[in-house]
Amino acid sequence: MNGHHIKRRTVLTAIAATLLVTPLVTTNTVTAQAASVKPSASVLKKSNSYYRKHAKALGKQYKFAYSAQTALKKNGKAVVWVNTKDTKLKQSVKLAMDYWNHKLGKKEFTQGTKKNHTLTFSVSNAKPSKNDTSDAWWTPGTKKVQVRKYYYDQTTQDIGEAMTTHLNNAFYKKYAATVEAKAKALLASQGVATTDKDYTQKFNETASNVETSLPAYQTLETQVAAVRNSVAEQGRMYEYASTIAHEFGHVMGLNHSPNKTDLMYFESGTSRVNSYSQVTSKTGLKTYNPVTATDKARAQLALKIYVAKQK
Ligand SMILES: [Zn+2]
Repeated sequence: MNGHHIKRRTVLTAIAATLLVTPLVTTNTVTAQAASVKPSASVLKKSNSYYRKHAKALGKQYKFAYSAQTALKKNGKAVVWVNTKDTKLKQSVKLAMDYWNHKLGKKEFTQGTKKNHTLTFSVSNAKPSKNDTSDAWWTPGTKKVQVRKYYYDQTTQDIGEAMTTHLNNAFYKKYAATVEAKAKALLASQGVATTDKDYTQKFNETASNVETSLPAYQTLETQVAAVRNSVAEQGRMYEYASTIAHEFGHVMGLNHSPNKTDLMYFESGTSRVNSYSQVTSKTGLKTYNPVTATDKARAQLALKIYVAKQK
């Protein structure tokens, strides 16, 4: 598959990232040595002739791919035909456009129609291969941003499993000691001695009853059911909003950023989509925008250079 793509970040690596306590020793060193790809305020204020003259050097320094800017109008804006019937995916595309529009302070991406657009968003039925496990990509030649159905279909279950695991772990961390103490006290009040040969079995049965009678357990069950019914799918909606926003970064001519926190990092993604509270709360992911200050400044410069070339 040609074109730029984002490498699929599996749920397992996302979970591993949240559990990783000790940072890798080499990470900081490598980041510190890399030159900054964030254009300064003064670089963003140069003239059109400056941009035309220095386009090549600027592209090298800030990692632009001008050849990918095939879907921009003369004014640098893009019009997206959302060619899918999937309601949730439509929400993801809308959110992806909003992420950039809010950060850039203009309507860089607008929704178009079949007859009026500069690029198409659609779903690809291509199966992943050993050499291509991307979940989405931008193909400048055909002017298509595509997501792979094969992974898209799996993602709700992946997120649901991660979310449920997090909920269960949080519950046990908080209530295990309480449940054990209550079960022990209950057995003692019934005259069951710890030396009783069936003590372990009796303890497990009692602990199980104590656990399920806790109000917090009812809450856990309600939340796990909600994950199955809608929350995991909502998590996927957010995951693909970021994935598609990353591809829109390529549409504007951005190559990958060396910074792990940037949306334009090759393997961008947030484990927030696996968090029940993040997906359901009024703050959480509702106010999250994956476009960083570096992503924003790079996009501004790439678009300025593009527009300068049209004049
Ligand atoms: Zn990419």
